Amino acid sequence: MGELLNVADIFGEDVFNDKVMQERLPKKIYKDLKKTIEEGKELDLATADVIAHEMKEWAIEKGATHYTHWFQPLTGVTAEKHDSFISAPMENGKVLMSFSGKELIKGEPDASSFPSGGLRATFEARGYTAWDCTSPAFVRHDAAGATLCIPTAFCSYTGEALDQKTPLLRSMEAIGAQSLRLIRLFGNTTSKKVTPSVGPEQEYFLVDAEKFKQRKDLIYTGRTLFGAMPPKGQELDDHYFGTIRQRIAGFMKDVNEQLWRVGVSSKTQHNEVAPAQHELAPIYAKANVAVDHNHLVMQTLKRVACQHGMKCLLHEKPFAGVNGSGKHNNWSLTTDDGKNLLDPGRTPHENIQFLLVLTCVLKAVDEHADLLRESASDPGNDHRLGANEAPPAIISVFLGEQLEDVLEQLISTGEATHSLKGGKLETGVRTLPDLAKDATDRNRTSPFAFTGNKFEFRMVGSRDSIAGPNVVLNTIVAEAFAEACDVLESAEDFGKAVHDLIKKYAVEHYRIVFNGNGYSDEWIEEAARRGLPNIRSMVEAIPALTTDKTVEMFEKFKVFTKTELESRAEIKYENYAKAINIEARTMIDMASKQFIPAVIKYTKELADTVIAVKEAGADATVQAGLLGEISGLLMKTKQALSELIRLTEQAAAMEEGEEQARFYHFDVVPSMEALRAPVDRLEMIVDKEAWPMPSYGDLMFEV
Ligand code: ADP
Ligand code: MG
Repeated sequence: MGELLNVADIFGEDVFNDKVMQERLPKKIYKDLKKTIEEGKELDLATADVIAHEMKEWAIEKGATHYTHWFQPLTGVTAEKHDSFISAPMENGKVLMSFSGKELIKGEPDASSFPSGGLRATFEARGYTAWDCTSPAFVRHDAAGATLCIPTAFCSYTGEALDQKTPLLRSMEAIGAQSLRLIRLFGNTTSKKVTPSVGPEQEYFLVDAEKFKQRKDLIYTGRTLFGAMPPKGQELDDHYFGTIRQRIAGFMKDVNEQLWRVGVSSKTQHNEVAPAQHELAPIYAKANVAVDHNHLVMQTLKRVACQHGMKCLLHEKPFAGVNGSGKHNNWSLTTDDGKNLLDPGRTPHENIQFLLVLTCVLKAVDEHADLLRESASDPGNDHRLGANEAPPAIISVFLGEQLEDVLEQLISTGEATHSLKGGKLETGVRTLPDLAKDATDRNRTSPFAFTGNKFEFRMVGSRDSIAGPNVVLNTIVAEAFAEACDVLESAEDFGKAVHDLIKKYAVEHYRIVFNGNGYSDEWIEEAARRGLPNIRSMVEAIPALTTDKTVEMFEKFKVFTKTELESRAEIKYENYAKAINIEARTMIDMASKQFIPAVIKYTKELADTVIAVKEAGADATVQAGLLGEISGLLMKTKQALSELIRLTEQAAAMEEGEEQARFYHFDVVPSMEALRAPVDRLEMIVDKEAWPMPSYGDLMFEV
């Protein structure tokens, strides 16, 4: 047994959190900083100097030699540039350790190599990182030693967002302001702030590092581009929630410990559906902190896997034929005094407020289904969404029987007079039902499910940042709240107005509600009848970013300008094209240099065997038949390879943008599949000893 661990002792040990700030900062400075954190008051440089000094002293005590502005450019991963604390050597040859307020507040990384989608052609090449003081700084320990990491936002010289964080913070302000308006209407005068709470569940695969290294597809693309299904997959459901094997348990222990130290409240862990697949979920936090923490989770999973001789695959679809990985983005709205706007509550007026919130969410999701779908698209997620697993590509909302019944009553009679499961009528004038908390069942096929007191957006990809989906959720709901408040604030009879509005929204947007099986073909037809968009791929989803209604909404709430949206669309097309190009080239490489040579060698052995067997006077029909079959597949492989080479070259020669991305999706991807098919069949009939890399079975069942 290793040392015993007391979680309470180590939790947040390496975080410059409220407790540390309170202990170390002068009272006045602490108060000023709290004002900035809580109310967005500007921080003056003198105050920042004091904070920076204390932060540096604290970090040095933790062993830190460097600090970094940790930011989230549009590459999908985080970026950092390290600066040591040392200042210019003094006369006596010694150095001082320094860190100024200016260095804390603002950084200037060389921005020119980050994707900007044309923003930088029109503006200056400079980019700035700005301290996000609402997400605490922390010290990270790794092979580089200890580093003080300062969460930051990343903007261009003229203030355009070049990252995921800036729009997220803007969207949090938007939803905060509109939520306050809404709760004031229902008589709440005490809450000062409303913040979106987010709890992302992270799925991932673990494979053995030695086997990983023998697969170029995993190395270059994070997923297998070839591979026949092993005799056993996930059909027995014996992995899901199964006993965690010792090697994995040891890994999880270290992951948790490292996460707890940096203040990530890693909470649940279990085996997932596919072999070698697992999940980790933290306790929910404020949206921007949750986004930062999710990046920390992904980085920690990868780092600790290496320490345990494994590799962590965060790709959405590492293996064909078994489930891929996603992230369930649990989302709710919480006031500073602890009320959850998505909690159905117990008292009638809260129920009315809840029903308004609920129908506003329905309206938001229905009106912006295309945008929400877009927010979950990345090249890897194309293999999940709409591919008969995980949620379908069609956005719908699961409410559960009880809520659906309430809405049906509202729609048919204009009033809801009872709730299912014997719930007693307990409401006042407008007779809305008291909702029991756990009356909702689960529906794993729904992309957007109400689960008791939160919505769970299940489309997000496992590798993607959750920032994008939360920007969209925050803003579309802010828009719906704003519209409702516009109506209600000027209403003469509030009670009647709110009742009418709930009914109106319920009637108009009921089509988005679906409680059935989202994987069925009937649903695809039914959704089409209802007029719900079915956007099958990333390249088809991207246009939603720049439609008039999207631009108008984001501009109204100052989350994105039109230019920023256009640049993001451009970056997405480029990223997609690049990702597929790498995959195609990796396939070409593997087929040309590994599979075809291995099969040629094997056919020679077989041919020699056929001759030898015949010479010995025996029947060589089986050997000759196999040789014929393999040679036929080899021919198909070669033809498919030539075609893929041709199309990839054609694609690469095109100008970057939508057309090129569509060409990759509609022409190159099918040609990749055409190359994979004969190779996978060859894998099934060629001697395992002759096959040049570990199989699916080796990767998934021998971790
Ligand atoms: P499951 O959906 O697997 O039953 P849980 O109820 O444990 O999950 O929650 C999954 C995630 O949702 C966790 O990260 C949890 O902290 C988060 N969560 C729970 N309540 C809320 C809430 N009100 N708002 C946002 N996230 C929440
Ligand atoms: Mg869940």
